[in-house]
Amino acid sequence: MSHHAILTAAGLSAAELETGVDADDAIIVSSPVDGSKLACLKPTALAAMPDIIGTAQQAFLAWRTVPAPRRGELVRLLGEELRAAKHELGALVTLEAGKIRSEGLGEVQEMIDICDFATGLSRQLYGLTIASERPGHRMMESWHPMGTCAVISAFNFPVAVWAWNAALALVCGNPVIWKPSEKTPLTAMATMKIVERALARFGDAPAGLLQLVMGGADIGDALVCSKQVAIVSATGSTRMGSIVGPKVAARFGRSILELGGNNAMIVAPSADLDMAVRAIVFSAVGTAGQRCTTLRRLFVHESIHDQLLDKVKKAYASLPIGNPLDAGTLIGPLIDAAALQHMQQALAQASHQGGKIYGGEAVTAGVPGGAYVTPALVLMPEQSEVVRHETFAPILYVMKYQSLDDAIHLQNDVPQGLSSCIFTLNLREAEQFLSAAGSDCGIANVNIGPSGAEIGGAFGGEKETGGGRESGSDAWRGYMRRQTNTINYSSQLPLAQGVKFDF
Ligand code: NAD
Repeated sequence: MSHHAILTAAGLSAAELETGVDADDAIIVSSPVDGSKLACLKPTALAAMPDIIGTAQQAFLAWRTVPAPRRGELVRLLGEELRAAKHELGALVTLEAGKIRSEGLGEVQEMIDICDFATGLSRQLYGLTIASERPGHRMMESWHPMGTCAVISAFNFPVAVWAWNAALALVCGNPVIWKPSEKTPLTAMATMKIVERALARFGDAPAGLLQLVMGGADIGDALVCSKQVAIVSATGSTRMGSIVGPKVAARFGRSILELGGNNAMIVAPSADLDMAVRAIVFSAVGTAGQRCTTLRRLFVHESIHDQLLDKVKKAYASLPIGNPLDAGTLIGPLIDAAALQHMQQALAQASHQGGKIYGGEAVTAGVPGGAYVTPALVLMPEQSEVVRHETFAPILYVMKYQSLDDAIHLQNDVPQGLSSCIFTLNLREAEQFLSAAGSDCGIANVNIGPSGAEIGGAFGGEKETGGGRESGSDAWRGYMRRQTNTINYSSQLPLAQGVKFDF
């Protein structure tokens, strides 16, 4: 299928792809598949942001009073429309973000899954009832809509991250303004066409319930700094979060930060090594190492180190690298030339810090252009500075350990805290890893790699990963405000804690 055919099938017309030809600040969208230009887009004008945010606020005033199960009906319809458009949107994810076909489809499946989850959730936004210490009194908690939710998303999950947030925000009674990465605006435009179809079938949603704005940090900043934006859900680098978080906090807004990871696996002596190898390879090289949950650090017990490494090297040598649009490709391109440069810089530093490098070269033969690489395995003598830093590329640092205590200590001894796992058949080791003294990450798995989470669990991480939680479990509470209600149905007015105030 040609690029043109993929863009057309996703509903994007030639005119829509060229809105920026006369703009000085046009967003040029290129495909990582071959570097070819896909679009030249006019960004949203900064001056238009107050009106856009004001429209969302108007939508909020109407949407917050729509019964939650009715709000869920819109999300159910969105899920249906996504099912119908899965193939077309998945192909566009491949073209614009460079993910292999099955990962492009998997990303859309994640959108469908969260719509199903949120539809059910729309009938389960439960509060507690609480025993009152006063006679004739009842206490309870109510959960109310918060207000406009801005979603600032990263290039590597160009549409799923919006869906995780939007599906929950909608059933919770909040409008959404989406600012996608300037590297992947086309998948956002195509998603909005799917949204339009769901809205048309729904019938009476307020105008401005779901909006899209285009641009870079300045447009994101307009959302971050607006007091009318109740929630800022920002996914991206720790650098971005360190700017966005304090700005939202300074105006007492709520932020949900989903930032960089530096995910690890511990492979213990009892591990099923064949299973571990499968998990290592998928989580270290899948999406060409450009997942927030990508496996970046591998701690292997010294007794099995060489054996495991041989298996991993063999697996790495068999991986088909190339055009992600071709069936059979497992490693597609990096997002752009700058990412390739960052990878080469990190490998040079690793070598300087005593690392022994296998792979990591640029691939130019047999690929259609773009920034392709062989995945790198780097044997490190210790967890040096470069290992403690997230490089968004397929680099796996491998280190030996002797005691599990040391391995857990090293695993936690990085600034990030997103995902982690252990491969072991030893119950004591597994439980130690999951205990309060074990992994300090938001996600900790046993005999499963660190990436590829299901939407049913809350997703997010600690420390410099930002502390936000999205998606399943009770992450919906992040999109609502909690209200404690005490109701007195007696004829007295007793005060709490036995306080007397008689007059
Ligand atoms: P990035 O930080 O460059 O950009 C992310 C988004 O933030 C973009 O939309 C960008 O325009 C916007 N942005 C940047 N500076 C801003 C500012 N000052 N104010 C407002 N908005 C601003 O990240 P990226 O390169 O697109 O994505 C890769 C990073 O995202 C990696 O670090 C990865 O780990 C992280 N990520 C984290 C998660 C997670 O759930 N924890 C998920 C996906 C990606």
